[in-house]
Amino acid sequence: LLSYRHSFHAGNYADVLKHLICVEIFEHFLKKEKPFEYIDTHSGAGMYSINSDQAQKLKEYAGGIGLIKPSEFPELNNYFEVIQKAQKTGFYSNLNLKNLDFYPGSPWIAKQFLRPIDRSWLFELHPEDYKFLCKNVSPSKKNRVQDINGYDGLKQLIPVQSKRCFVLIDPSYEVKTEYDQVVSSVVDAYKKFNAGTYVIWYPVVERERILRMERRLKSGGVKNIQRFELAVNIDDTQDGMNASGMIVVNPPWTLFKKMQLLLPKLADAVGQNGKGGFKCDVWAAE
Ligand code: SAM
Repeated sequence: LLSYRHSFHAGNYADVLKHLICVEIFEHFLKKEKPFEYIDTHSGAGMYSINSDQAQKLKEYAGGIGLIKPSEFPELNNYFEVIQKAQKTGFYSNLNLKNLDFYPGSPWIAKQFLRPIDRSWLFELHPEDYKFLCKNVSPSKKNRVQDINGYDGLKQLIPVQSKRCFVLIDPSYEVKTEYDQVVSSVVDAYKKFNAGTYVIWYPVVERERILRMERRLKSGGVKNIQRFELAVNIDDTQDGMNASGMIVVNPPWTLFKKMQLLLPKLADAVGQNGKGGFKCDVWAAE
């Protein structure tokens, strides 16, 4: 177990979708002065070198961030600004694959938005990635990093003190039971605190697993659920992942409209042999 390392996948089309939605949610949380808490149950290392052996092995970033040109996506300005900040050199307008040295992870992205009044809780079980994570985000009393199971961490924190929270659940789904585990943990957390924004990332390997997640979230009583999915190919075309998505409970009210316009463009950009696609729908109303 724990053989998954995100460094092989950093910057792929799944990361792009995940992180641009995170940026949208952070922007929304910052509109209010009240403090909030960010909980990242599966944090990863926080920052990835594009020139590492791992990233170079599969070059997944080339089929993700490498295909999304800043000049063609002005609506993703805020996302690209964060990506730019992660580079040692170069300017935003020059951001292209040639001068992409690093791709940031969700905890580092969060750090660019959190104010001194906000708090973050980052969980990472892999001993090596935990060490990298500590280096990349410099833990403090307000920004805690722990090498414990993220599902347990979440359970202990909900309901949050500040009454505002953004929870990202981004497992690797190495074990198939994880599809059920993410849903159970959101249903449990939602029962204790139904005002939180809960976000689940998922890969589409077998469609039935995603349909089951939808059914279980709804039957668990969770309301106000939206889903955003980006596909590089049609279901079951290749072994492994053909698409990936984000399930957002209590999304910012502006998100759906933005994604409706953005997803078709993204699908065109990352689709393989014109087979890109997307899903943008409401699983449960408010
Ligand atoms: N959220 C990160 C990002 O967007 O940059 C990527 C996370 S990666 C997909 C999943 C991470 O979860 C891996 O680094 C893995 O070691 C870690 N992990 C797996 N099971 C875990 C658990 N039960 N609790 C905490 N971390 C876990």
